Amino acid sequence: MTDETPPTADSIALVTGANKGIGKEISRQLAAQGILVLMGARDRERGEKAVTDLKAQGLPVEFIQIDVTSQTSVDHAAAEVERRHGRLDILVNNAGIALDWFPGSELTVEALQNTFETNVFGVFRVTKALLPLLQRSKHGRIVNMSSGLGSLTRQVDPASPLTAQNMLLAYSSSKAALNMMTVQFGKELKASGIKVNSANPGFTATDMNQHRGPRTVEQAAATPVRLALLTDDGPTTGVFSDDGAEPW
Ligand code: NAP
Repeated sequence: MTDETPPTADSIALVTGANKGIGKEISRQLAAQGILVLMGARDRERGEKAVTDLKAQGLPVEFIQIDVTSQTSVDHAAAEVERRHGRLDILVNNAGIALDWFPGSELTVEALQNTFETNVFGVFRVTKALLPLLQRSKHGRIVNMSSGLGSLTRQVDPASPLTAQNMLLAYSSSKAALNMMTVQFGKELKASGIKVNSANPGFTATDMNQHRGPRTVEQAAATPVRLALLTDDGPTTGVFSDDGAEPW
């Protein structure tokens, strides 16, 4: 690997929530570039099944057990990445949940806390645990899977369909908080060359929304994969979709 090229052939990536949906497709697309992808899943059986699927396509993938809501699990996964590979080049914080498909007034504190436990504290926990290994990479990249719903600008833009939407307070505010984590880590890590960006995959047919989204996982994975493979002159500390830079 030279200093001028992005992480590819001899690189190692970790994708959380990789056993299905967009995370599995991100893993597939990264592995198709020759990157060794550690496919993270909280459930061993589901994770190993996804790994078997991609291995059958000849792709370089490994299973790693990681429940982002458990400090013990995350610490164990970080130690396992260090033991197996000694460093990490790409971290895709993809694992996420959306529980509140109803108005905010019907939301319970418990559901709000559970959402933040995965979508915000989980991302922080994983990032903090893996940061020492990312700092050993020449081209460290962190991609946080966000959502257009996390955009304060879009949520109040009269031209946006989100203005009329009256649900997902917990999910949307968790993604707004996640975006601020992208900004804060992005600023801190800029000098070290680690790029930190948020990706908006668009409304995509997955289990998260009972497959109502119009986009395919192949389309949804394109932006996070592009951000994972940014060259050293690429952007950091931004939020991006297929259309380019998005408003916070
Ligand atoms: P999905 O099909 O429901 O997949 C979510 C993944 O996250 C699953 O692998 C799930 O594992 C995992 N996960 C949940 N909690 C976890 C935990 N505590 N520890 C580890 N893994 C956990 O959803 P998706 O649509 O692919 O979503 C992927 C990401 O894209 C999420 O961050 C989501 O917010 C974001 N996103 C999705 C859309 C969309 O329209 N689909 C739009 C914008 C953003 P299990 O199988 O064990 O539950």
